[in-house]
Parts: sequence; structure tokens; C-alpha cells
Amino acid sequence: MNYRTILLFGAPGAGKGTQGKILGTIPGFFHCACGEVFRSLKADSEVGRIFIEYSSRGELVPDRPTVKLWHHFIESCTKTGRFHPEQDTLVLDGIPRSVHQAEMLQDTLNVAAIFYLSCKRPDALVERIQRRALKENRLDDAKLETIRQRLQTYEKETRPVLDFYDQALVHHIDAGQKPVEVLFDILRQVVKI
Ligand code: ADP
Repeated sequence: MNYRTILLFGAPGAGKGTQGKILGTIPGFFHCACGEVFRSLKADSEVGRIFIEYSSRGELVPDRPTVKLWHHFIESCTKTGRFHPEQDTLVLDGIPRSVHQAEMLQDTLNVAAIFYLSCKRPDALVERIQRRALKENRLDDAKLETIRQRLQTYEKETRPVLDFYDQALVHHIDAGQKPVEVLFDILRQVVKI
């Protein structure tokens, strides 16, 4: 199966989840946030334990269990009728997060556009993540040291993913704007594709 896909790309705290959730409410779009899939696992399951181990250090979960879990999730959403691959565009947030993941998903994803939510002020990302920690119960959002590690992991392992794809697909979006302005910039492109 090959899924028509929009990728939301950017550092932790850039607003991928906020935008993804909104896009996922539009008929014909299905939002999947990889971090949410991990957080929905039972803490005492095998992958749940791996997730807690890596995410609490601000590191990426290894590629194989990540991609396997993702496939499993998408297949179960298809079976239960939440996702209709023939009609829906998949809005992916948080995957692929390494070049190896992008390679592993190359035959599965038919990428129609990539929205690169970039923020010029790293401090703003840290502030957003800390604010979010108060609202959502996230171990990886709580400690400043872990947040810094996640931003470093992003620079080292995730940012190179952008170069993996055809640059004509990449739309640069200023993530420092208000959420409604970010949404407006994304939708302006989405209606064209
Ligand atoms: P954020 O974008 O704020 O870092 P996410 O909810 O997307 O938050 O991810 C939380 C954590 O889950 C990551 O720090 C990482 O440990 C793990 N994770 C999520 N997606 C992936 C992925 N595609 N590959 C590896 N680890 C992942």
C-alpha cells in the first residue's frame, strides 16, 4: 500500500502537533502523530518500555520498532475505518525522524508536500515545550536538560531528513507566528496540491 502523504516537519515545540490536529479534522485528511502513538502504549509492554527508556533521555526510539509500530497503527486505523487510504491524505507528524526511517518508508509514502515549520528563536521552542509540560503529562517535557537533548537530537538526526526529499516539495513556514497564521500559510499550499 502506498499512502498519499503530507509531512509536518520541524523541531520539537515548532507546532507540528497543533497544526496536524487541525488538519486532521478536515474531511479527506487523517492525522497521525508518531509521539502520540508511542504515548498510547502500555508502559509495561515491550515497545512501551523501549519508548520510556529512550524518550526520557531525549533520544529517538530505534528505527525498527518505530517503523514497525507505525505500520501496525496505520493498518489498525484502516481496518477500523478511521483511515481510508484510497481517499484520505495522511498528515504525518514526527515520522520519519531519521534518514534511515525515511528510507524504510520510501515505498510506503507518496509524499505530496513537506511543511517545514522553522523557528528562528530556539528559546521560543524551549518555552513552548515547558508550557506544554504543564498541560500534558510528558516526562520528556519536564526537565530542561532533556528538552535541550531533544533539540540536539533533532539537529543531528532529524534535520538531515529534509535533504532526503525532493526540495521542490518543501514549503518553509515561519513557526514563530500565531497558530492561526501558521495554519493559513499551510492551507494556502494545501489547497493547491
Ligand atoms: P516532540 O516533537 O515534541 O519531540 P513527539 O511527541 O513527536 O514530541 O515525540 C516524543 C518522543 O517520542 C521523541 O522524543 C522520541 O523519543 C519518540 N519518538 C516519536 N517519534 C519518533 C520517531 N519517528 N522515531 C523515533 N523516536 C520517536
